[in-house]
Amino acid sequence: MSSTEETSLRQAIIDGCLRMNAEGFNQGTSGNISARYEDRVLITPSGIPYEELTPQKIASMPIDGEDFEWTGPLKPSSEWHFHRAILKNRPEQGAVVHLHSTFATVLAMAHKPIPSCHYMVACFGGNDVRCGDYARYGTPELSRIAVEALEGRTACLLANHGMIAIAPTMEKALWTAVELETLAKQYFYSLQIGGAVMLSKEQIDETLQAFSGYGLQNHD
Ligand code: 13P
Ligand code: ZN
Repeated sequence: MSSTEETSLRQAIIDGCLRMNAEGFNQGTSGNISARYEDRVLITPSGIPYEELTPQKIASMPIDGEDFEWTGPLKPSSEWHFHRAILKNRPEQGAVVHLHSTFATVLAMAHKPIPSCHYMVACFGGNDVRCGDYARYGTPELSRIAVEALEGRTACLLANHGMIAIAPTMEKALWTAVELETLAKQYFYSLQIGGAVMLSKEQIDETLQAFSGYGLQNHD
C-alpha cells in the first residue's frame, strides 16, 4: 500500500506528463518520467496514453535491482534502463524527464550538441549540452551513453532520439526540460542566420558562479 507521500509523487509524475503534452513538448505516448522514492524508482508505464494514468498505474522498481524487477499493474517504460541507471549514478538527483520535444530532437537528429551560444547553457551545469551517440531505444547501451552524456550536467541530447533532463525535484526536472527545449529552439534558429557568436569559457564560468544562487526557487 502506498503512503500519501508516495501517492502524491506518483500523481506528480502523471501531472508532469500531462503538462509536457499540453505544452506541446511531447506527443502521444513518446517520452517518459521517473522519480526517486526511498530506494525505488517510480516510472511511467510503457505505451500508455497519459490521460489514462492513475497513481496506481505508475510502475515501481528497486533502484539496486539487477534485472527487470518491477511491481505494478503495467510494465514500466521501455527506457527503464536509463531512468534507473541515472538515479543510481546521481544520488543528488530525484527526477528524470525524457522527451522527444521537437527542437531538441531536431538537433539530436543532426548529432549537434548545444554549445556556449547563450548564457543559459550554464543552467545545465557546464559550457555545453552533450549529444550522446545513437543506440537503439530501451537498451542497456543507450543507458550507458545517457549516463556518460549527463556527467557533470543536468541535461543531454540522445542522437536520433530526443533529450533527457534531470533535477533533485520533479518540478525542477520539468523546468530543466522546458529550458532545454527553449535553448534548442533558439540555437536551431541561430543556425539559420549563420550561427551564434559563442561565449568564452570565462564567460560561462562566470555565469556558472552567478547561477549558484539563481534558478527555480525552492527546488534545489
Ligand atoms: P515508453 O512508452 O516505453 O515509455 O517509450 C517511449 C520512448 O520515448 C522510448 O524512447
Ligand atoms: Zn524516447
